[in-house]
Amino acid sequence: MTTTPMVEAKDVTKSYGAIDVLRGVTLTIQRGEVACLIGPSGSGKSTFLRCINHLEKHDTGELSVDGSFVGYERRGNKLYERTDKEICAERSEIGMVFQRFNLFSHLTALENITLGPIKVKGISTSDAIEQAHLLLDRVGLHDRDHNYPSQLSGGQQQRVAIARALAMEPKLMLFDEPTSALDPELVGEVLDVMKDLAQSGMTMIVVTHEMGFAREVGDSVYFLDEGVVAESGDPNEVLVRPQSPRLVNFLSKVL
Ligand code: ADP
Ligand code: MG
Repeated sequence: MTTTPMVEAKDVTKSYGAIDVLRGVTLTIQRGEVACLIGPSGSGKSTFLRCINHLEKHDTGELSVDGSFVGYERRGNKLYERTDKEICAERSEIGMVFQRFNLFSHLTALENITLGPIKVKGISTSDAIEQAHLLLDRVGLHDRDHNYPSQLSGGQQQRVAIARALAMEPKLMLFDEPTSALDPELVGEVLDVMKDLAQSGMTMIVVTHEMGFAREVGDSVYFLDEGVVAESGDPNEVLVRPQSPRLVNFLSKVL
């Protein structure tokens, strides 16, 4: 039996005007895989995540999530562009966590988590609240339900952001440097939640500079350099015995 990969990219390109950001990204991420995406600033990591989530449209190449082309539907031999409504539905199945938590500041932790399930999924308020309490429990914040983001530390806010993403019951989670904006002593608590999530079998793509996390939790690592995957494989191989001078150089800067 063959299983459809969760993400498949073939020669994906994306330019902004004259800047070629993605110059042919090819990779396959299986279900349950925890893939860490590393690379220098400007190499296209965020752009690639945004293409997966259809926040950006790639220019050429093929990009599919869970067996269907991002933004397109295949009928017979033809591809049809999806409607905005269909794109929103596709996007709601992919959770995204950003560097800067992006919580709604006027809503409590609980309300941040219940908003999507109520508004987008049409779940009843009481069910959404019950589920939100379970999620707050899961990220270690069961007593913080009525706190506003300003009353929470960066690490706590990021854990609420993860709970909020999980409330939509995503099949794929994208993390874009989730710990880069945190004070060093708060990084661990967020990585612990992500590790727990990885162990639960979630498919995750994590842009990170936390090489310890990549080696311990990652199933694979992809080194993005100037818009292409320059090196990839088992983190305990790739990060320990990098092949290209550019990866050697990159690792010497982040370690
Ligand atoms: P990374 O996340 O690896 O640091 P990004 O994907 O954010 O890289 O950006 C790659 C390049 O694309 C950068 O040179 C950046 O300035 C450019 N870029 C990103 N988004 C836009 C945009 N919306 N318009 C123009 N240029 C952009
Ligand atoms: Mg980025």
